[in-house]
Amino acid sequence: MSGLVLDGKRIRDEILSELRPRIEALKAKGRTPALAVVLVGDDPASHIYVRNKLKASEELGIRSIELRVPGDLSTAQLSEYLSARKDELGSADAILVQMPLPPQIDGEAITTRFVDGAHDVDGFGPFSLGQLVLNRPWPRACTPAGIMELLRRYGIAIAGRKAVVGGRSDIVGKPMALLLLHANATVTICHSRTTDLAAECRTADILVAAIGRPAMIGPEHIKPGAVVIDVGMNRVIDKAHAHRLFAHQPKRLESFEKTGSVLVGDVDPRAMEELSSAYTPVPGGVGPLTIAMLMANTVTLAEHRQEC
Ligand code: NDP
Repeated sequence: MSGLVLDGKRIRDEILSELRPRIEALKAKGRTPALAVVLVGDDPASHIYVRNKLKASEELGIRSIELRVPGDLSTAQLSEYLSARKDELGSADAILVQMPLPPQIDGEAITTRFVDGAHDVDGFGPFSLGQLVLNRPWPRACTPAGIMELLRRYGIAIAGRKAVVGGRSDIVGKPMALLLLHANATVTICHSRTTDLAAECRTADILVAAIGRPAMIGPEHIKPGAVVIDVGMNRVIDKAHAHRLFAHQPKRLESFEKTGSVLVGDVDPRAMEELSSAYTPVPGGVGPLTIAMLMANTVTLAEHRQEC
C-alpha cells in the first residue's frame, strides 16, 4: 500500500485564499487586521519562524508590528520594555510572543501580562484553553487547528474512530487530543511514561505524532491503513541515520550531501508511506498549516474586536 499524501501546502493555500475576502471586508469597515510579534533574543530558528509569519501577514495585507528585544533582559526589564509599548501592542488585534524565550525570562508572567484572551492568537493562554475544553468557538492552537482543517478538507472521517496522539504538550498534544475528542473520536494520549507506546499506537485509525524525536514512530507503531499525521520537525545531521531513513528517496539524500542535514518528522518516512492509507509528509504536511491558522486566528480576533 502507498498512502495518499495529505498536501499541507494545498490546504494552506485554500485557507489563505478564503481569508482574503474577510480581510477586505474588515478593511472596508476601517479595520486592517494587525498582528504584533514579540521576538526576544537571537535564536536562529525563532528568527526564521517570525520572518515567515511576517511575510505571510504582508502577503495577505495584515498589518504587522514587530518588537525585537535583546536576549539578555531580565523578566522585569522585558516587562518594562513591553509596558512602554503598550499602545503599540494594544493597537494590534492579535499578539504573539515567539517561543522559546531565553531561560532567564518567566514566559508565563510575560504572556499573562501582555497577551490577554482577546489577543491570544496562539490559543495558548488560559482563556483560550478554557474555551477549547468547553468546546466553545474561539481561536485554537494553530498546529492542531491546522491538522483538523486538513482532515476535514480531505474528508477524513473522525467520529467513532480511534485516535492516538503521541505527545501531551500544551501547544500540540493536549489541544490536538481535545479537538479530536470534540470531533467524536475515541482518544488516547501517549507520553514519555506510556508503558507500551507501539501497542497503543497500533490501535489508532488516526495517529498523530508530536513527540519531537526523529523517526521514532516506526512500522511497529502503525496499524496498516491508519491515517498518520506527523507533526515532528527534527533535523538529522548524522549521515548514517539520514541514509537509513531516506534510502528510498535519493533526492533527500542529495540534499543532505549539499547541506549537511535533512528534515525528518517523528515518523519513519518509509513506514508511513508504505503502511498508512494517508499521511502528512515532512516537510510540506503539517508545517504550512500552522502559519495559515495563525493568519486565520488573527482575522478571527480582528472580526471579534470589530463586533465588540
Ligand atoms: P514537547 O517537547 O513540548 O513535547 C513532546 C511530547 O512528547 C511530550 O509530551 C513528551 O512526553 C512526549 N515524548 C517524549 N519522548 C517520548 C517517548 N519516548 N515516548 C512517548 N512520548 C514521548 O514538543 P512539542 O509538542 O512542542 O513538539 C513536538 C514536535 O512537533 C517537535 O518535533 C516540534 O518541532 C514539532 N512541532 C511542529 C510544528 C509544526 O508547525 N509542524 C509546530 C509545533 C511543534 P512527556 O510529557 O512525558 O515529557
